[in-house]
Amino acid sequence: MTAAGTIRSHREADVAGKRVLVRVDFNVPLDAGRIRDETRITSALPTLRSLLGRGASLVLVSHLGRPKGKPSKELRLAPVAARLGELLAVDVARSPEVVGLISTTMAEGLEPGGILMLENVRFEPGEEKNAPELARRLATLADLYVDDAFGAAHRAHASTVGIAEHLPAYAGDLLLAEIQALGRLVDDPASPFVAVVGGAKVSDKLAVLQRLVERVDALLIGGAMANTFLLADGKSVGESLVEPAAVDAANAIVDSARQRGVQLLIPTDVVVATSMDSPDGTVVAVDNITGDTAAYDIGPATAERYASVISTARTVFWNGPMGVFEKAPFATGTLAVARAVAAGDAFSVVGGGDSVAAVTEAGVADQISHISTGGGASLEFVEGRALPGVEALRRS
Ligand code: ADP
Ligand code: MG
Repeated sequence: MTAAGTIRSHREADVAGKRVLVRVDFNVPLDAGRIRDETRITSALPTLRSLLGRGASLVLVSHLGRPKGKPSKELRLAPVAARLGELLAVDVARSPEVVGLISTTMAEGLEPGGILMLENVRFEPGEEKNAPELARRLATLADLYVDDAFGAAHRAHASTVGIAEHLPAYAGDLLLAEIQALGRLVDDPASPFVAVVGGAKVSDKLAVLQRLVERVDALLIGGAMANTFLLADGKSVGESLVEPAAVDAANAIVDSARQRGVQLLIPTDVVVATSMDSPDGTVVAVDNITGDTAAYDIGPATAERYASVISTARTVFWNGPMGVFEKAPFATGTLAVARAVAAGDAFSVVGGGDSVAAVTEAGVADQISHISTGGGASLEFVEGRALPGVEALRRS
């Protein structure tokens, strides 16, 4: 259930001469201190530029990785602050702590247009516990609160929920764009609505499958997830990644689809190999997966069938690759689905870190209506669950 009250855009707030605490999701993938993908930084720039242009100074709060409530040298935000400074062409000051005397002094010294980045908020044990004291201390650093961290909105933490009790709270552009696009999938999606779900684990995505089957016209299953459905259908899956414990749940989804007249498709052919490091795979019908091989991709007949169903859609949601797309011999099915989603004129949403990478690799990212930056958060949203970080922004 969604609480009453409206979410205000930061663009409605008068921020001139004010200090604004912005919760961003700068949880970028790092490789020995180097940023491997800066999408999460660039996605926040519209909100940050707008606030700065309207005369605000900014106190930025983000988490990075999972430091579990204590400082960690590798998870400091220094490389992120440096890259943000380059992108905005301004100096980003950095506090060595989250809250405390240094952060307070630095925040109070900010001039309009100035930016201060606090240290990784998950260095504080109170963050993930949504400790009232941490929320209160964060709030003392600013006059207003703007949340643009959609990727963290499914977590009730001090910097995403607690703080909103203490300051006038607004949503950033990225967060608003996410809830608008994902909202179209939940509220009244144009039919036919086709969902494509794949990836590694069924158990991670059971809730979203159960929910989707209640609202889609077709549900196309791929990736390792498909192996569990194949097993449920009585096939042998050899050495394939599979979750026997989820067979009952898979059967329940198949039954639910049948009762509702939803077209639920699982692969009819797959690409198998003896190892995912094999230089190539063999296409076999799903009845012929031998004991020493594993399915690493959907086969060409399945890919064609899925593409043809996708081409009829007016709404598409895709989460989870169709195979081990990181390896060239097993990328074909995923790339075919990416191209099919891009080719149609349906309203299309792609979520999940690996699926988004696949769409980018296929070179079709600009033909997708909305690419979600929030993996877990977008799945929970599509499940129909209220996200604590979003609900905290509602005001009556
Ligand atoms: P997303 O990040 O888009 O939500 P997931 O993290 O659920 O997707 O799943 C992506 C992973 O699933 C990829 O690393 C991919 O290699 C793996 N995968 C997909 N199909 C298979 C398969 N048939 N066997 C083993 N792994 C698979
Ligand atoms: Mg993933």
